[in-house]
Order: sequence, then structure tokens, then C-alpha cells
Amino acid sequence: MIEVIDLTKVYGSTRAVSGLTFDVKPGQVTGFLGHNGAGKSTTMRVILGLHKPTSGRALINGVRKRDLRDPMREVGAMLDATEVQGGRSAFDHLQALAHAGGIARRRVVEVLEEVGLAGAARKRIAGFSHGMRQRLGIAAALLGEPGVLILDEPVNGLDPDGIRWLRTLLRSLAAEGRTVLLSSHLMTEMSLTADRLIIIGRGQLIEDTTMAELLSRFQGDVSVRSPHATRLTGALEAAGATVRRAQAPGASTPSTSVSRAEGELLVTGLSAAAIGDLALVNGCAIHELTPRQASLEEAFMEITQ
Ligand code: ADP
Repeated sequence: MIEVIDLTKVYGSTRAVSGLTFDVKPGQVTGFLGHNGAGKSTTMRVILGLHKPTSGRALINGVRKRDLRDPMREVGAMLDATEVQGGRSAFDHLQALAHAGGIARRRVVEVLEEVGLAGAARKRIAGFSHGMRQRLGIAAALLGEPGVLILDEPVNGLDPDGIRWLRTLLRSLAAEGRTVLLSSHLMTEMSLTADRLIIIGRGQLIEDTTMAELLSRFQGDVSVRSPHATRLTGALEAAGATVRRAQAPGASTPSTSVSRAEGELLVTGLSAAAIGDLALVNGCAIHELTPRQASLEEAFMEITQ
């Protein structure tokens, strides 16, 4: 597992991470969220021993990275896939890493297969697309079949097939009992991949929770369409609901969700059943009645505001 204990990292006059404490447990995918500059990469770099903490500690399997006895078999990481030297082939790059870590050559072949790069193994990395570089970075992280994986924005540059592949891979690695920490700014993808969430802002912990708990805390609404929208709105408000009229398509005011048809109401404070009952009593036809859960993006924006 990973333990971050009262971690602070100051660069010159910038306090990148401030008194941050959290654990990342095995058997789960943990998402690491925060706006740009929140301190995610810094935290990952300190965990990986690339940057020294100003104070506090970050431990992998109970020790600092540099004290791990067999580092490549204990932790794999991908921070910036563009950092890889372009002159070598994918095979030679992984082979050099494997050699340094005492890992057999057959594992290089295996891992290239696993990330879908077997066909490009002998090609120079310089000619790789961003998505191929991401796959290569993930291959390097998986080389030692480590129990702990740390991936910074691994989804960037992957095509839809690649995104789905990575999601399945990360979930299966967690199901095998590994510890998986990943950052991503793609909220929908994160909500499909992560079981737990660590959310930080300005270097400090905001949330350490499960995806399910977080979403359940953010009230969804009920989308209602009725040809008697005005009368229904009056009845709903009289019953204590809050009613927003959804944006008509093409309207200029920005909306957090997709544009909605005119006549659509977004109702909070009453269940779909109660809304249906009220509509019946008030003689209002209902053309749609859809309960909607808050999205991770909506929850994230509200929390980090
Ligand atoms: P995130 O990964 O969440 O976008 P970072 O950890 O990259 O955030 O950055 C946190 C803050 O620390 C930012 O203000 C950033 O400019 C600063 N920072 C990050 N790395 C360095 C560095 N090597 N030197 C100076 N400042 C840095």
C-alpha cells in the first residue's frame, strides 16, 4: 500500500503540498483528483522518491521508495510518457529497464503483448504517437509485475479503444490485489474506473472517500417534461420543491449538462413518484419523468469551488 503522512513540499515560494495525509489501499483503483496545480504530480513524485519532501513522509509498503529491496517488482509508475528517449526501439527501451531491474527478457515480450505494442516493438519510439507512448509508459510500469502502480494521467492521448483497454486492465490489476493510484482530469473515465477517490485542492486534502459515497451525497434531480410546465411548476413549488427550467437548445447561458428541450423542468426536493402524483392531482400531463444522479464532474466542481 501507499501511505502519505503529513506531507509538505515547498518549491521556493510555492507551497505545492501542505500537510497531506492519506492511504492508498490494495485491491482497489484509487483516483487522485484535483485541479491543475493542486499538487497531484508533486505528491506522486515524492511517493516515488523523485522529489524530497520538505516535511512529512510518503511510504510504499511501509518504507521510503529508496529503501525498497526490489523496487521494480514492488512499484511501477508512469509520470510523463513524453520523457522517453526517442532513438531506441520500444523493445530496446524496455529491455534496458528490465536489465537494470533484473527482470527476464521474456517479460519484455510479454508486456509488449499486454499493452498492444507487439507489432511496433522494433520501431523507433521517435515515430510513436502520443497514445503509443502512453502504452509504452504503461508497459514500463508493468514490467516488474509490481504490487503498487502509480500512473499520472495515463488516459491522455489514448483513443476510445485504448481508454477502454486501460480501464479493464487497471480494474483487473486491482482485482488481483494490487494497489492502483491514478490521476486523471477526465471525470467520466474516472467515475468508471475508480473505487475510491482522493481529492486535493491547493496541496491539501479535500475528500478521501468512495466513489459511491461521494455521488450519493450530491443530490441528483428529476428531469420532468410536461406540456403544462407552468402550472406544474406552481404545484411543485407549493409542495416545497425547487424547480429550474432547463436551458432550451441553442440558448446562450452555459449549462453543466447537455442542452435540453424547452418545457423541461429540473426538480430537486421531491421524488419522481411524488412529482408524478402531484401532476395527476393537478391535471398536468407528463411526457417524461427521469431521476438523474449527480455526475462526478458536478460533485467535483462543487467540492473544489
Ligand atoms: P498538479 O499535478 O495537481 O497539476 P503539481 O504538483 O504539478 O500539480 O503542481 C503543484 C504546484 O507546484 C504548482 O503551483 C506548480 O507550479 C508547482 N510546482 C510543481 N513542480 C514544481 C517544480 N519542480 N518547481 C517549482 N514549482 C513546482
